[in-house]
Amino acid sequence: MKLTIQTGETNEILRTISTEVTKEQLKDVLPTGKEMLKWLKSKKNGAGLAAPQVGLNKRMIVVNLYEEEEGEWHIYKTLLMINPVITWKSQDMVLDEEGCFSCPNQYGNVLRPNKIQLEFRDERFLLKKLELDSFSGRVVQHEIDHLDGVLFVDKVVGEMVMEG
Ligand SMILES: [Zn+2]
Repeated sequence: MKLTIQTGETNEILRTISTEVTKEQLKDVLPTGKEMLKWLKSKKNGAGLAAPQVGLNKRMIVVNLYEEEEGEWHIYKTLLMINPVITWKSQDMVLDEEGCFSCPNQYGNVLRPNKIQLEFRDERFLLKKLELDSFSGRVVQHEIDHLDGVLFVDKVVGEMVMEG
């Protein structure tokens, strides 16, 4: 399966609110989820991918989770999340730069809660709970926005930077 990345701020698929994955649909969406995992792991840059970005309007994302060790951030896990829901957000907000595979070469600062708690279903449809902060929390929030038809460019504070 070759994944085609949807791009463009007015792309209809990217702007559609995605629907939940039912237990019955799991076997139908998992092959795409596995491809998304493989694709993300093959990328040097990029922290996450949402199903609408590969043309599927279902609530499924893949994300890299990061930890800091001796001042360096590195990926410690790449996770597939089905039906992710943020159940709690911290009051403290952090402004940091984001980019997106669907908005190539565009970068800008987005304000997001520093810490979140979330629930999602794993590959076996088991309910999982996680608390994430810093960069990992930001990645998950960015990807869940995709499931609601929201792009980071909608939320940029200040100037958008074009590169490349
Ligand atoms: Zn994105």
